Amino acid sequence: MATLILNADLHCHSVVSDGTLEPEALAQRASANGVELWALTDHDEIAGQHRAAAAARANGMRYLTGTEISVTFVGETVHIVGLGFDPDDAGMQAGLRNTRGGRGQRAQEMSEGLAKVGIKNAYDGALKFVGNPELISRTHFARFLVEGGFCKDTSEVFRKYLTEGKPGYVPHRWASLKDAVQWITQAKGVAIIAHPARYKFTPNEEYALFTEFKAHGGRGVEVVTGSHTALEYVKYAETAREFGLAASRGSDFHSPDESHTDLGALPYLPGGLTPVWELLADRIQ
Ligand code: AMP
Ligand code: MN
Ligand code: MN
Ligand code: MN
Repeated sequence: MATLILNADLHCHSVVSDGTLEPEALAQRASANGVELWALTDHDEIAGQHRAAAAARANGMRYLTGTEISVTFVGETVHIVGLGFDPDDAGMQAGLRNTRGGRGQRAQEMSEGLAKVGIKNAYDGALKFVGNPELISRTHFARFLVEGGFCKDTSEVFRKYLTEGKPGYVPHRWASLKDAVQWITQAKGVAIIAHPARYKFTPNEEYALFTEFKAHGGRGVEVVTGSHTALEYVKYAETAREFGLAASRGSDFHSPDESHTDLGALPYLPGGLTPVWELLADRIQ
């Protein structure tokens, strides 16, 4: 698999976090869209990994274990994708369990904030959309607010209610960058900076992120993702070369009703890069 021309989709979400499809339905959809190498990367959770690997096999795809860890770096939330780790690794499981830990309390506070602007019982409302009780996320609140007619779609909900300074936003401290990278690498996986263009960093802060990530043992960056523009593919291909990082590719698909980029529906990686699957050849199932 030492090629850039591979339909690899190494970033998506199931009902085990904030997606709306079961791992089996995602596998079917990915395969129907021509995905050859797949990874399910639920937020802070790996409970879907064995099902996803089996479903990949049943649908004729190769598989890499995956997760997307929430990290706090200089006051911003950064997502670190882990691929190819051992899903039974105790350190990884404990780290993810701790990272999930604060979500219940945070959700209660989000609900209180929303109540102050007249949106009642948002906690219970969001809970109806939750597939995994340990993984209540802003996405579930967004679905509840759309269902209640407060907004026309989830991106409007985020803009009006769930981002910094808005009534349902609650600041939260996630894992440290160092811990997240170490959990992944100690479990024999590869750590990857997810969708770098999404963060509101100054150039200096972004440089610090990439430098520290490498120093902790991080080895990859998402270049082609559902949330990057074509110009951002070029920019982060250059960053990958500059920092000597491998490049990853993933749709970040969450739901047929919400996601703009379908599973596998992305351009191939640009030339002159090392694909992450080259680093993970012996971890592919
Ligand atoms: P949380 O981990 O609870 O903070 O929720 C983060 C998730 O919210 C992300 O993984 C996305 O799925 C979703 N999200 C974040 N920002 C937006 C946005 N502007 N529009 C739609 N979904 C978003
Ligand atoms: Mn998400
Ligand atoms: Mn993310
Ligand atoms: Mn994601």
